[in-house]
Amino acid sequence: MKLITFISEENQTAAEQYVQSVYQSVIKRNPHESEFHQAVKEILDSLTPVFVKHPKYMKSGVLERIVEPERVVSFRVPWVDDNGNVHVNRGFRAQFNSALGPYKGGIRFHPSVNASIIKFLGFEQIFKNSLTGQPIGGGKGGSDFDPKGKSDNEIMRFTQSFMTELYKYIGPDADIPAGDIGVGAREIGFMFGQYKRIRGGHEAGVLTGKGIVYGGSLTRTEATGYGCVYFVNEMLKFKGLSFQDSTVVISGSGNVSIYAIEKAQQLGAKVIACSDSNGYIHDPNGINLETVKLLKEVERQRISEYVKHHPQATYTEGCQNIWSIPCDIALPCATQNEIDEESAKTLVANGVKAIGEGANMPSTLEAIEVFLNNEVLFGPAKAANAGGVAVSALEMAQNSMRLSWTFEEVDAKLHSIMKNIYESSVLAAEEYGYSGNLVVGANIAGFIKVADAMMLQGIV
Ligand code: NDP
Repeated sequence: MKLITFISEENQTAAEQYVQSVYQSVIKRNPHESEFHQAVKEILDSLTPVFVKHPKYMKSGVLERIVEPERVVSFRVPWVDDNGNVHVNRGFRAQFNSALGPYKGGIRFHPSVNASIIKFLGFEQIFKNSLTGQPIGGGKGGSDFDPKGKSDNEIMRFTQSFMTELYKYIGPDADIPAGDIGVGAREIGFMFGQYKRIRGGHEAGVLTGKGIVYGGSLTRTEATGYGCVYFVNEMLKFKGLSFQDSTVVISGSGNVSIYAIEKAQQLGAKVIACSDSNGYIHDPNGINLETVKLLKEVERQRISEYVKHHPQATYTEGCQNIWSIPCDIALPCATQNEIDEESAKTLVANGVKAIGEGANMPSTLEAIEVFLNNEVLFGPAKAANAGGVAVSALEMAQNSMRLSWTFEEVDAKLHSIMKNIYESSVLAAEEYGYSGNLVVGANIAGFIKVADAMMLQGIV
């Protein structure tokens, strides 16, 4: 008995030192990449119990390998605006890990995009994709191009230039990009057109999030938002709660937010606030989703316009205070680090019961701690927002089979995948002694599958 205790203490120390040394090497090797450091820390903090139980992963250097992308490309994207002026943006693709399948992950167009943002997103994508149970590796790409205020022709010229370089690195069995912030059906369409023109043929499986008429999947548009609500619903059920009659605050008013609002409303919730990068609206009567869709999907307007249609609502400039609106459930669906420690404390003080991360890394590490310490149900991004990539993988399957499934078929598969992700996260948390902690559970469940695949494939 004494010997076992001694060995396990030794294992514990070795595992802690191993995790620390890998984290320090990430900081040293990737200076000034704070978002990437944060994403690595969030995962690594959960993995010590795995190395205590399975020292084999340490021996084969799984962690050192997993934090280093297999490949990152960075390239020039020159384009000409409607007035004939030349602009140069920077494009990226991080092909992080292909142990489970071809690289898969979205493309983000936003002025804040840099190597750190793309690497944090690509790194998280490895574990998220693993959790879906689909055969897909992790990657992410993007550009510091700002689509806001650009004409359709400017968007087309930019995306064509972007794809003229990106096409060299992607393919239906190699790397399959999709949308993300600033990249929706319009941008995917232009990228697909240019890829097809350069490559010849119609390789439908090279991009997901395509239009339904040329190989897209029904339910892909809704998948991330719906999936997030399905996941939160599982968490609520466990505590005997539900969306019915709950008040919900959802940040953002883009793809993920709109369909999170739609599903939450279908489940009987009252969604009272949403936002864009300029500010937020608060409608105590419940958000009118038709108006939000009209403003955001059709007219590409600012969310402030909402109050012209619904005078009982208020608009507040700036985003942070959206979290001061009392609610039962909060779904951050806009961007990274949008809930800091102070906002988390405000949400807790106002009685929030559950958080579901629709966006990637929307809560800071300090905010997550506040939620966990106060027993708020917390659905971490890589589990709660995995519905989008899961349906992307279903789109790839349909493309390969030359089939189209109905909305109901894909929605049922999405629902079941989200339930499985919830259950496997709960089980992993329990198995490693962190019962009820879905951050640890999702990280461990996502990691183990990738680690096993990496070990089977040798030191590569
Ligand atoms: P969209 O571009 O469709 O919408 C983004 C929304 O967030 C917009 O309302 C935008 O406002 C707002 N926003 C963007 N940046 C900021 C900021 N710095 N501060 C406040 N608000 C901001 O993107 P998606 O809905 O696709 O993506 C949202 C999040 O979900 C991202 O974190 C993304 O990585 C994640 N995600 C998306 C998936 C998908 O399938 N689309 C899958 C998994 C995760 P504005 O219009 O003013 O810029």
